[in-house]
Amino acid sequence: AAALINNVRMRIHEKRVADQFQLLAKTDGLTKLWNHRTFQDYLSKEIIRAQRYNRSVSLLLMDIDHFKKFNDKYGHQTGDLVLQEVARILSRSIRINDIPARYGGEEFTVILPETSPDQASLIGERIRQKIELTVINNGKQNLRVTVSIGCATIPDHTKNKQEIINFADTAMYHSKNQGRNKFTLYSKKNIM
Ligand code: GH3
Ligand code: MG
Ligand code: MG
Repeated sequence: AAALINNVRMRIHEKRVADQFQLLAKTDGLTKLWNHRTFQDYLSKEIIRAQRYNRSVSLLLMDIDHFKKFNDKYGHQTGDLVLQEVARILSRSIRINDIPARYGGEEFTVILPETSPDQASLIGERIRQKIELTVINNGKQNLRVTVSIGCATIPDHTKNKQEIINFADTAMYHSKNQGRNKFTLYSKKNIM
């Protein structure tokens, strides 16, 4: 019986280790958010679900403003600290079913299932404000950053996965062009 119990223990341990590795492969090491590939997988799934049940799904895309200058001025390590802090704010600003990810270097996304353009705009604007108001201390200085955010929604703006990403991106660039530290909901008018 002792041998059997030991065997079960070992298998439970092995399963935990395997789960841990799987989780690591899906997340971004620096921010602990989902990584780009996991984001793509979740977005595909959420879009299929939205189409099947006639629900909406919104996508936020955000990019830190003038982050190259920030890195040049304060160093890469402080830059990394900012990325972690922005990720933390993002995670704390959303609901349990929302899916935050690190899209790329200093770009983040949130998939908002069951969320209309109006609701997504409230969430996006709230995130923008929170980041603007957050003071980040790197041990020497109190620092702030801002983000530009874009948003698009299925089925309001498109039914298509690549297009919802492109439209959120277009809206995000509109925020940049409007002076940064802005939120923009996609509309045909902001195609530049
Ligand atoms: P914009 O307001 O137009 O977005 O300007 P920007 O400087 O943020 O844009 P750009 O794309 O030119 O620069 C992005 C910078 O983000 C470049 C790079 O130094 C920084 N960056 C990307 N990934 C990381 C990272 O993992 N750590 C740090 N510290 N910086 C990063
Ligand atoms: Mg960028
Ligand atoms: Mg940037």
